[in-house]
Amino acid sequence: MKTIGLLGSTGSIGKNVLRVIDTHPERFSIAYMTANTQVDVLIEQAKTYMPHTVIIGDEKKYDVLCKGLSGTGITCAAGYTAIVNISRDIEVDVILNAIVGIAGMQPTIAAVKKGRDVALSNKESLVMAGTLINNICAETGAKIFPVDSEHSAIWQCLTGESESNVEKIILTGSGGPFLRRELSTFDMIRPEEALKHPNWSMGAKITIDSATMINKGLELIEAYHLFHLDASRIDIMIHPESIIHSMVQFNDGSIKAQLGIPDMKVPIQYALSYPEHLPSNWPRLDLTEIATLHFEQPDNTRFPSLALARQVLKQGETYPAVFNVANEQAVYRFLNGEISFPEITASVKRALDDHQPLDPLSLEDILKISKIRMN
Ligand code: MG
Repeated sequence: MKTIGLLGSTGSIGKNVLRVIDTHPERFSIAYMTANTQVDVLIEQAKTYMPHTVIIGDEKKYDVLCKGLSGTGITCAAGYTAIVNISRDIEVDVILNAIVGIAGMQPTIAAVKKGRDVALSNKESLVMAGTLINNICAETGAKIFPVDSEHSAIWQCLTGESESNVEKIILTGSGGPFLRRELSTFDMIRPEEALKHPNWSMGAKITIDSATMINKGLELIEAYHLFHLDASRIDIMIHPESIIHSMVQFNDGSIKAQLGIPDMKVPIQYALSYPEHLPSNWPRLDLTEIATLHFEQPDNTRFPSLALARQVLKQGETYPAVFNVANEQAVYRFLNGEISFPEITASVKRALDDHQPLDPLSLEDILKISKIRMN
């Protein structure tokens, strides 16, 4: 039985983790679970999966949590610090970090410092502090297992291969809802339109990131830290059907791709069961039904975010952290109706232009950046 610490159980990824556990109750159990604000959902989940501890990030909801779980024997706690501390203090086989945004970084760092393996859905951890996290992992022996579908695909393609055989990796991206939209109308895009992803059903933050393709930029930086390849050896390709989740090209020109229907349960399960592919009864990909797959180069005028991501990787230092923080702030401002859609990427660019780099290996400096109001 593998014990799992589940961070972010009430979000889209967290709920899919629980579906994976439903599929293999004899293999996985939840040791603890945390959520940010959705206390009612958390209480229901806790009653079903009976972890020993449950934490709600929002301290105002602590009483509701305790009341909801009274008589169950489950320990309740509240606050962000409690979430970071449990990642550090409690022994589990793997922590699945499905926290949304920058808030996911400190639990990842706390876990790997203690040598704990992390199945990482929170790409912001690596974008903000990838070099620091890799250094800590090298010291403590902790491992990061990718949950992001593209990175899971690359990981699967690389299994059994040596890194020296790899020529490049090819990250695929659907292009989001605005791949064909008239460019002159981008400043009229409303949040409701941007929240409609053609293939993947995901949380609001990542869905907006997919619409700007900043998500693919974040994934480029994530891939750089996970697979230790220079950015010039990481291509980005538009593939509107999201059937090929990414590819690896080897020195002889041979390409391996990982395919499947867009369903996050598959990469989640693989991150928990690696190197095994456990059975599942989820829907299968029928290529005869899909029949045709399409590919194209990304249009840098439509998606200026991709060039920005390459620029920050080249600049290094704390530029990737600023890229992430400025974007996160801009996305919530867009969702609140405060700024236009093109202003998301424009404000990220301004924040990068204004940035005076700090020390990328100092958690304190990285946290300082996460608190700057950028737009
Ligand atoms: Mg992804």
